[in-house]
Amino acid sequence: MIILVTGGAGFIGSNLCEALVQQNHDVICMDNFFTGNKKNIQHLQDHKSFEVIRHDVTSQMNIEADFIFNLACPASPIHYVTDPVQTVRTSVFGALNVLETARRLKVPVFQASTSEVYGDPSVSPQPESFFGNVNPIGPRACYDEGKRCAETLFFDYHRQYDVDVRVARIFNTYGPRMNRNDGRVVSNFIVQALTNKVITIYGDGSQTRSFCYIDDMIEALIKIMKLKKAPQTPINLGNPVELKIDDLAKKIVAMIGSDCEISYHPLPQDDPKQRCPDISLAKQTLDWQATTNLDAGLEKTIAYFKTILDT
Ligand code: NAD
Ligand code: UDP
Repeated sequence: MIILVTGGAGFIGSNLCEALVQQNHDVICMDNFFTGNKKNIQHLQDHKSFEVIRHDVTSQMNIEADFIFNLACPASPIHYVTDPVQTVRTSVFGALNVLETARRLKVPVFQASTSEVYGDPSVSPQPESFFGNVNPIGPRACYDEGKRCAETLFFDYHRQYDVDVRVARIFNTYGPRMNRNDGRVVSNFIVQALTNKVITIYGDGSQTRSFCYIDDMIEALIKIMKLKKAPQTPINLGNPVELKIDDLAKKIVAMIGSDCEISYHPLPQDDPKQRCPDISLAKQTLDWQATTNLDAGLEKTIAYFKTILDT
């Protein structure tokens, strides 16, 4: 197949492009390099099945493909709040452009949605049926509401134009090719511990997240692509092992063997207090669950950061 991956130079996108090329697909990586990095895809550049297009998904695209993965969007809070209007544009106009392309070509289209659509959830673990608790005018709203509107467009295109849509709500994912300055918790703590800086915990560290290793996530995304008939409903993807941010900090410091101090800072506004996926639907429809435990995934991620910090 010819597969278009928007946001293909980012963390998840570059790992997905690599896996698709390995499975003998022709991959078109589309990116505007806002948070993506050419180094993430450098090793694929000479591959005959791989090509890169510098393009902003908010502009119309005239492209041919058999399947579209729409991943283009900054994913880290520090990036998506720097230009909130562009974040909304990317989510909404990006969704419209990939959906129009899928409609024209009559091909399936995947949307990388997010656990952020649940906001600060009042139920835990979060099932797909939970409508969410999102502040529509807060600093995170550009991302949360942008992604929620993108989901709306996806399911309207299905109902109105019969487009084959596939939507996953991705929970916190980590691993090699995260940007060292990305601001997300796993990369921050690892880089801080490796460089003997102070570990920055926002709030009192009692908020929880559930972390999924990148290889597990990529396996699930490819399973969604391969479904002959996909459920026309969002699917949660994540590893339902929940832990406190405080415990994550202690674990990473212990694994790296550093004696970093831990400092506490104000919790950003609307930062969710808990997050854990209910993955029953993913188990049932994809026969999938994450198999990499946190220690094994962190080992590989720490090894990756050691190599990039050395260069
Ligand atoms: P990332 O920031 O590493 O990658 C996003 C990519 O999109 C980057 O390469 C960036 O340059 C590109 N991009 C941004 N705006 C663009 C635009 N207007 N036009 C073209 N390209 C653009 O983030 P990631 O972690 O790889 O996330 C990928 C997708 O998965 C995002 O849509 C994100 O919302 C979603 N997601 C990720 C996580 C996670 O934990 N990593 C969780 C939930 C959802
Ligand atoms: N966080 C933290 N220190 C950091 C970066 C993040 O304590 O240096 C916290 C953040 O406030 C949130 C959690 O870790 O409660 C996860 O943050 P991240 O930005 O990785 O993802 P998200 O908030 O989107 O789940």
